[in-house]
Amino acid sequence: MRMVGQARADRSEVDAVVVGAGPNGLAAAVTLARAGLKVRVFERADVPGGGARTSELTLPGFHHDTCSAVHPLALESPFFRAFELTSRIEFAVPDLSFAHPLDGAPPGLAYRDLARTCERLGRDGNAYARLMSPLVDHSGQVAEFTGGPLLRLPRHLRTTLRFGRRTLEQGTPLWNARFREQTAPALLTGAMAHAILPLPSPAGAGVGLALTAYAHAKGWPIPIGGSAAISNALVADLIAHGGEIITGSHITDIAQLPPSRTVLLDITPRAFAELFARELPDRYARKLSRFKYGNAVAKVDFALSEPVPWRDQELHRAGTIHLGGTREQIAAAEHTVNRGSHPDNPYVLISQPSVFDQTRAPGGHHTLWAYTHVPAGSDVDQTETIVRQIERFAPGFRDVIMATATSTAADLARANSNYPGGDIAAGATHIAQMIRRPVAAADPWRTPIAGVYLCSASTAPGPGVHGLAGWQAALSALRREFAEYNPPDLRYRTTDAQ
Ligand SMILES: Cc1cc2nc3c(=O)[nH]c(=O)nc-3n(C[C@H](O)[C@H](O)[C@H](O)COP(=O)(O)OP(=O)(O)OC[C@H]3O[C@@H](n4cnc5c(N)ncnc54)[C@H](O)[C@@H]3O)c2cc1C
Repeated sequence: MRMVGQARADRSEVDAVVVGAGPNGLAAAVTLARAGLKVRVFERADVPGGGARTSELTLPGFHHDTCSAVHPLALESPFFRAFELTSRIEFAVPDLSFAHPLDGAPPGLAYRDLARTCERLGRDGNAYARLMSPLVDHSGQVAEFTGGPLLRLPRHLRTTLRFGRRTLEQGTPLWNARFREQTAPALLTGAMAHAILPLPSPAGAGVGLALTAYAHAKGWPIPIGGSAAISNALVADLIAHGGEIITGSHITDIAQLPPSRTVLLDITPRAFAELFARELPDRYARKLSRFKYGNAVAKVDFALSEPVPWRDQELHRAGTIHLGGTREQIAAAEHTVNRGSHPDNPYVLISQPSVFDQTRAPGGHHTLWAYTHVPAGSDVDQTETIVRQIERFAPGFRDVIMATATSTAADLARANSNYPGGDIAAGATHIAQMIRRPVAAADPWRTPIAGVYLCSASTAPGPGVHGLAGWQAALSALRREFAEYNPPDLRYRTTDAQ
């Protein structure tokens, strides 16, 4: 039995070391172990999973996702498709991927069905259909293009051009040109705001259009049991293929690592530059010092005695809900955050997993996951602001709250050094930095230090639970360090689970 848990690493040689057991570190470790290498993972926290963990944050029996909650990329990520994630764990995929209530206008309802969505968009239904249908019809090609470094020749040129043209339209002040009412633009803006950027902006539009295409194509799935189920599936596969994870092991000096032929680092460029300060060539160190971290998130988890009393009945069946009002109101809130202040009327992202997964809360009770955007490093508790914004669309919400657990941006940064200042994207997502993530290169995971690779969300393709940075960094290491040019078979075999 290989060890998982708190243990002191022995110094025996391994083929590959991975620092950090987030989704990217685990994806890298699984890929290397599947290629037949002896892999050891070091993780600072007491449990593996990084941004994909679940725990009882409020009351006993209430299981909350500590970071990520909703997984549009679990179905679309080429890594997870190769890993056959859906054969390993169960997902609930709500028909209504996300919803967007408005004051005095019908809510936006993004169904896993574009036609049904458009029927509810009034005079903008056709314009919305024309915008989204080529991306929905080719959502796998959108995921393929956005799932790697942007500096490369796209495999599906037509879809990429359509995606690019729509990104330019929705990422500039022309973003309202095709719309006549409030609901369709608000619906898109709620997805764009996931990028934590001033809006309109090209990167915000790209993120929003891709996420919205996935919402209409395959949906936004929620893992039964919580996001930890994804990490557990990766850990199980790693262990089944001879890998080890040493938890409670914070790597602050490379002397802590055992000898190995390659090292993959699920850490930020800033942490990497500190760890390898003596070895790093000046030119590369200068490039990394230009890597910028973005604005942040403050999170609140709720234990509820009953479901949220949404005013719009449809919202009871939505997996995710975007609050903040109209396109203009959300854009104003995001500009306020970008200027370093806390908006009174902020954008709030909500997930209500217990509506679809009864393992999350006991006896008909519910869990609710919510976060809002705040300036980097903020230590302001946002519980009251978030409760107020929910009350705006669900009067009486306060009365169903049994307990809360709050994390300021500063708390998130303390809990995971990959979120500096509470930046959950591990690096600002503006367009220039999506091109150089962390540097502009066809293989951005490779560093100038022989055998050493970066594989966190600070590298292409950026944030999200998709494992793609880890997978591609591992494939690069296999090619360069082991002359292994064929990607290992990651498919699920039932024996892997034992
Ligand atoms: C509040 C919040 C909500 C989110 N919501 C979503 C969502 O709904 N959907 C989605 O797709 N994404 C979401 N994300 C983003 C997603 O969680 C991250 O993009 C993803 O986890 C990045 O994976 P990673 O492996 O690069 O890094 P992480 O998951 O951050 O993992 C890095 C790991 O490395 C460890 N580590 C770092 N430095 C060291 C060291 N020196 N020594 C040892 N260990 C180290 C850390 O402890 C951590 O476990 C959310 C994130 C947060 C914080």
